[in-house]
Amino acid sequence: MTRRFEGDRLLVATHNAGKLDEITSLLAPYGVATVSAGALGLPEPVENGTTFVENARIKAHAGAKATGLVTLSDDSGIEIDALDNAPGVYTADWAETPEGRDFVMAMTKTQQMLEAKNAPHPRRARFCCTLVMAWPDGHDEVFAGVMPGQVVWPMRGQQGHGYDPIFQPEGYSITFGEMDQAEKNRISHRADAFAKLIKGCFA
Ligand code: IMP
Repeated sequence: MTRRFEGDRLLVATHNAGKLDEITSLLAPYGVATVSAGALGLPEPVENGTTFVENARIKAHAGAKATGLVTLSDDSGIEIDALDNAPGVYTADWAETPEGRDFVMAMTKTQQMLEAKNAPHPRRARFCCTLVMAWPDGHDEVFAGVMPGQVVWPMRGQQGHGYDPIFQPEGYSITFGEMDQAEKNRISHRADAFAKLIKGCFA
């Protein structure tokens, strides 16, 4: 039995204002007000897990422990079969440069690694999103969302963010970078995880 959220204020374990806005509007219909870890000036915990669930748990439990509020966290990334599921939890790290994140560089590096391995086509991959709800008593609930597809080259499309221009979701001939964002938000790994979260804890 999934534990339901009974309060009226939820901590969202993020320092990213865009992520907070997106989550706030998704939960607004259920009468949930949100506050972010960034707004409360909470430190960002070290994400030293080796799976999406471990990292999401680290963030959610750190927030719940620090504030006494039920806390929601997310962790996401792309897994590529031919790269033994890399970059996985290191998806954002592959884009790090001294001047900030560079996703064109990260996508180029991904393509070079696939070419070096002579990986066969289609180059199967999946975007993953894991959400964790943690309670101050240490209980948690985990919801995993997935969008299967393939990595393509060259990059296509100007919409979206991150690795969207090289990810072609299953059943489509366009990349996430070419897809209308409302459509992406309806079918994505994040939509899948949030639908499960809402069904489990809020609806
Ligand atoms: P985080 O979960 O905010 O740490 O982000 C993980 C990384 O995964 C992001 O920096 C993006 O590069 C990548 N990522 C997660 N979801 C998507 C997506 O929907 N499109 C493109 N990249 C994504």
